[in-house]
Amino acid sequence: MPWINKESCTGCGTCVDECPAGAIYMENDVAVIKDDGCIRCGICHDVCPEDAARHDGERIPEEVQSNLAYAKKLLGHEYYANDKTMQKQLVGRLQRFFTKNKKVAEQTIEQLEILKNTEYP
Ligand code: SF4
Ligand code: SF4
Repeated sequence: MPWINKESCTGCGTCVDECPAGAIYMENDVAVIKDDGCIRCGICHDVCPEDAARHDGERIPEEVQSNLAYAKKLLGHEYYANDKTMQKQLVGRLQRFFTKNKKVAEQTIEQLEILKNTEYP
């Protein structure tokens, strides 16, 4: 999902005018993308003169840190406190959860490759 780097956005409004899905609006002179309205056309990336419309791939390190923060928060819960065995079990469950998500992503990518070569709709 594209996102707006608030530090770079000057509020020129070009992306709002050019977005074919009406998925961008201004808030306090900064562009905001409505996630549920975006059709992933990529135009905002192309038209922004400040390079403020960014790709979500840049957020991978941020998302990893968020996941780790989540894991540490759970490990700090009193239910797991001072019990190394239970903490290890929790980490194992989280690893299985993210492994499942990885498999979902891999199989989705495979199916999308088929869709790429299919007449649609
Ligand atoms: S990718 Fe396209 S639809 Fe999504 S916010 Fe950018 S211009 Fe709008
Ligand atoms: S085109 Fe770029 S600088 Fe202008 S409002 Fe959109 S994100 Fe901000």
